[in-house]
Formats: sequence, C-alpha cells, structure tokens
Amino acid sequence: MIEIAKEIQTAAYLFASILFILSLGGLASQESAKRGVIYGIVGMVIAIIATVLGQGVEGHVYIIGAIAVASLIGIMVARKVEMTSMPQLVAILHSFVGMAAVLVGFGSYLDPETQTMTGAAHMIHLVEVFIGIFIGAITFTGSIVAWGKLDGKIPSKPWAFKGLQMMNIILMIACTVLGVFFCKAHGTDGMLPLLIMTGIASYIGIVLVMAIGGGDMPVVVSMLNSYSGWAASAAGFMLGNDLLIVTGALVGSSGAILSMHMCHAMNRSFFAVIFANATASSSQGGEKKAIEGEVTSLVHEEVATLLKEARSVVIVPGYGMAVAKAQYPIYEMVQTLRKAGKNVRFAIHPVAGRLPGHMNVLLAEANVPYDIVLEMDEINEDMPSTDVVMVIGANDVVNPSAQDDPASSIYGMPVIEVWKAERVIIMKRSMSAGYSGEDNPLFYKQNSEMLYGDAKVSVEKLLGFLKA
Ligand code: NDP
Repeated sequence: MIEIAKEIQTAAYLFASILFILSLGGLASQESAKRGVIYGIVGMVIAIIATVLGQGVEGHVYIIGAIAVASLIGIMVARKVEMTSMPQLVAILHSFVGMAAVLVGFGSYLDPETQTMTGAAHMIHLVEVFIGIFIGAITFTGSIVAWGKLDGKIPSKPWAFKGLQMMNIILMIACTVLGVFFCKAHGTDGMLPLLIMTGIASYIGIVLVMAIGGGDMPVVVSMLNSYSGWAASAAGFMLGNDLLIVTGALVGSSGAILSMHMCHAMNRSFFAVIFANATASSSQGGEKKAIEGEVTSLVHEEVATLLKEARSVVIVPGYGMAVAKAQYPIYEMVQTLRKAGKNVRFAIHPVAGRLPGHMNVLLAEANVPYDIVLEMDEINEDMPSTDVVMVIGANDVVNPSAQDDPASSIYGMPVIEVWKAERVIIMKRSMSAGYSGEDNPLFYKQNSEMLYGDAKVSVEKLLGFLKA
C-alpha cells in the first residue's frame, strides 16, 4: 500500500513538472500566455495535493487551515493590487521564498531525524542546509530592498561606496570559512557559524540591491526571481522533495536566462550586475553634459492637427501610461488614426514600465493587435521616416544621454531613437526625471514639444479633437 501511494505521488510530481514546463513555454508569447497560466495553476494544485497527502505528512488540519488562510490573503492582495504595483508585489513574494528557504534550513538542521545521519549523507545534508540558508537570506533581504526601491520607499539612486566590491569578496570568503566550521561541528554545535553566516548573507542581500541604480533595477528584479528559484530548489534538497527541486531549478534557470536577456537588452555585463558593480558598467564618471536648448510645449488642439497631417505615427509608451491607465483611449486613438489611413505603430522598449513585458501586457489588455506592436530593434531604423512620435509616459527609454553622455548612469543602455523622427510629442505631467533620476535632453531638442498633463486625460482630449 505504501509503495503504491509513493508511486502515485511520483507520477503526480512528474505530471506537475510537465505542466510547469508547459506553463513556462506558454508564457513565452502573448497569444499563449493565458494557457500557460492555467497549466501553472493546475500543476500547482496537483503538486500541493500530492505533497499534503504524501507519506510522512502529519497535522493535515493545521496544513489545510494554513493553506486556507494564506489563499484568502493571496486572493485579497491579488484582487486589490493595481497593475502599477505589480512589480512591488512580485519583489515581496520573492522575499517570502527566501524567508521560507531560511526557515526550512534551520528546521532541517535542528530536526532530530537528520541528527541521526552519518557519513557522506550527513555531510551533503549540511552543505544543502548551509547553501540553502545563504541563498535564502540574500534573496530575502535583497527582495525587501527591491520592494522598497520599486515602491519609492527607498531612493532609486545607487548607494555604493569605494571598496564595496572588495568588501563583498571578503564577506563571501568569511562565509566559506564559516561553512567549513559548520560542517565540522558535531550535533547542533554548528548553530553559531550558521547564525553568523545568515547575518552576513542578509547584509550582502541589502548592499547588492542598494548598489544598483534605478535604470538597472529590471535586471535585479529578474535576478532575485532566479535566486528565489534556487532558494526553493535548495529547500527541496533539504526536504527530500523532488518536485520542489525541479520547480526551483525551473524558476532559477528561467530567471537567470531572463536576467541575461535583460542585460543584453540594456548593454550591461551580467557579472557586473550580480556583483553589485552595475554603475561601473554604465556611467564612466566625470561631469555630466550640460543640456542645451529650450523647452517648448503645445496644446492638445495643436497636437491633434499634427496627427491629422501625419502619414506615419509611432507611439512609445512607458511607465506613465501604466500609471494613467491610458492604454484604452490610446488604442481608440490609434483606431481613429488608422481609419484615416495613417500608418500607426507602437514601439516597445524591453525595460519600459516596471516589469519585464509590462507594456505588452497592458496593450494586450486593451486588445491592441500584436502586428502593430514592434520591439525597439525593429522600429529604430524606421525613426528617420516617421512623421510624428508620441512619447506617452515614457522617459528613460527615450533618453539620448544613454548614447551620448558617458557620465550618465544609463549610458550604454540602448534606447528608442525618437529624436530622429520629424516631430516628437512628449506627453507627461511635468519636466521631472524618469526612474533612473537622469534629466532628459530630449525635451530640449528642436523637434521636440511637450504636451503636459495626465496621459489618459490628454489622449481623451486628443481623441475629441481627432473625431471632431
Ligand atoms: P520612467 O520611469 O523613466 O518615466 C516615466 C514617466 O512617466 C515619468 O517621467 C513621469 O513624468 C511620467 N508619468 C507618470 N505618471 C504619469 C501620468 N499619469 N501621465 C503621464 N505621464 C506620467 O519610465 P520608462 O518606462 O521610460 O522607463 C522605465 C524605467 O524603469 C527604466 O529606467 C527601467 O530601467 C526602470 N525599471 C524597469 C523595470 C522593468 O522590468 N521594466 C523594473 C524596474 C525598473 P511626470 O511625473 O512628469 O508625469
């Protein structure tokens, strides 16, 4: 009977793993994303049931009670959270995974059953505990700082000091030495080195993320996603749960691949970012270039006239579109312009907004057809032949100093070259800087004009004039 139950659990785990892989595959494109999410939900339900009903699991009443309370909180939070706060939510959820890995590590170390282990099995278990807690603690504190930075509670400017990298290397060496003491200790005598290492790892998590500038935060968010996967995988080893190992490895490796893609898209070195040296890979230091030119602005009626006269229009959305929830009237405006025979397309920067794929999700929500949504690399070469570019709530992703000011913290990041178009209209509420904190010389260019106001209100006004 026990054997059969074990085999059913193994089959359920295998099935859940396949569903998780299908889920990741589905999330790769907008058309299949919904299907991917459903695969993920079904896989997770199977995984939870198979684990809770598995051999050696006791206290089902407490477990079901905890799942019910946690699910209720999860549903309430997910229903309440605004799309603009999603990045913060993702960051704080990563911190839970880190915390769980730390708690599982300590629990597993103190578990009387693991005390009876001997030889190589015991050594492997100790290494799992040590590494699991190390990754978990970095993920926990790093994700809390990332949450603070994304929520505006902690300044997005990089916080670093001379010798930070050297200090990180020394701390890593100290953790390795503590690991040796921990593995050599008898019984639970390794608690002290374990606690000291947890403190050091928590500190490393804080400084790693504090040192990253606003512009490089996307890489950090996807990297913490990867760390949370490895932390879960480590917890899987400690608990002897194969599914947790596989799921953690899936999250860890897909997060790492996403981080590499992000680094590539932003022209950053992957290792420079992981070792908190992101600013060294971007700003070359020195004095920032003085911005020349004058800021001019138009009113809605004038912009509507420009649009009526244009043949080709490119819309560059950014974080401000998400804040204003302007995607619906924007698509209505696009439909109106397209009906008038104009070539209208969207240009999407890989890190626009605050989440990977943020703009694509919002545009899909408004039913914008995929064939008019182009990636930065596809659209940049069309800029010189574009009559009007509408920058709607975007800032850093169209900042020319990323190309021509070596002192800028976003120097080297590829941007959408909107200034090459004939006219550029920038729709935002003020002259304030973007998430990176860098001023934008685009606003001062001769062919650029500001259209001040909330993006949604402005687009609705433009629509009124276009339809009149
Ligand atoms: P930015 O944050 O650079 O700029 C957004 C602009 O939107 C602001 O300058 C703001 O100006 C304007 N805005 C805000 N609210 C409104 C509103 N209601 N109506 C109109 N405009 C509004 O956004 P981008 O999308 O250009 O760049 C994204 C930045 O975020 C990059 O630096 C990126 O690295 C970073 N980031 C991206 C992540 C990702 O995964 N995509 C994750 C973390 C960070 P004003 O206040 O004047 O209106």
